[in-house]
Amino acid sequence: MAKRKSKGVRVTGKWSEGESIVDISRLLLDKDMQARAKICNEAVDEYAEGMADTENNKPLPPISVVVSDEDAKQGWVVDGWHRVLAALKAGLSELPAVVKFGTRTDAMAAAAAANQQHGVRRTNADKRLSVMLIRRALPDSSVASWAAQCGVTRTFVYNLIQKERDTELAMLDIESVPKQMATPQIVELDAETKASSEEHDPQIALVMKRMAIATRDASTLFELIATIKQKIVIAAAANAAEPDITTFLNVQTMLCDLEAVKSAIRNASPHSICPVCGGMGCAMCRQRGWVSVQQYKLIPKSQREGVAE
Ligand SMILES: [Zn+2]
Repeated sequence: MAKRKSKGVRVTGKWSEGESIVDISRLLLDKDMQARAKICNEAVDEYAEGMADTENNKPLPPISVVVSDEDAKQGWVVDGWHRVLAALKAGLSELPAVVKFGTRTDAMAAAAAANQQHGVRRTNADKRLSVMLIRRALPDSSVASWAAQCGVTRTFVYNLIQKERDTELAMLDIESVPKQMATPQIVELDAETKASSEEHDPQIALVMKRMAIATRDASTLFELIATIKQKIVIAAAANAAEPDITTFLNVQTMLCDLEAVKSAIRNASPHSICPVCGGMGCAMCRQRGWVSVQQYKLIPKSQREGVAE
């Protein structure tokens, strides 16, 4: 059987730039360099069949790989995910590739620019993903250059950014509605128990006072977070209004992180007088006399109810 002669030198140890034959085990499929919203299984199957039957099929163009340096263990596949998956399916151990040296950022930018001319036709989801990639790789670049690198129009990029802002604003609206959420709920003792315990036990009165202070502090923090969120969204909107955006605030991530801070505060806030010691102080409540929701949930049900009786 006449084997088709492949172009390029085989990469055995050190990488070199240009066309080479690369062992598949040295190829890295990194999610950050995947400019396809979805792998097209039909295309993979079709390519795999072609690769298995080289007599009747024209070889596919080489894939593109970026490597950090000549000694790199693996290289990033920036164009050719379908071909790599097909090669694996066809049981091949190597593939022709065009190798370039570059940083991880270079690789991300190259991935964003990939798939414009050949291969499986890009969907709008693919285009959105490639714009996302290029913005992550080159956050300080301009809309014009992002659009050029991804092979989309400027309007496409603007619309994408505008849509993001809208989502962020909608998120903020939802945030500002449930105001009562900002105040941690305190499971109060019923009036009678409270009156009698306050009367008979100054310790309980002290614990109640501390719980009130902690709750007030938590509320102050929630207000601060709400203010920060507003400022972020306003700054982002001002940014979007500029025709030439040079900076990019990752609003979505910041708002999510602030949300995480809120739940941390909520979980650690006073929830109830410690049902284990009844406010006297024990290991469970760390001698505070009260427990947070998290701690409360850790106490076995029998023990919680045992105190209430
Ligand atoms: Zn306790």
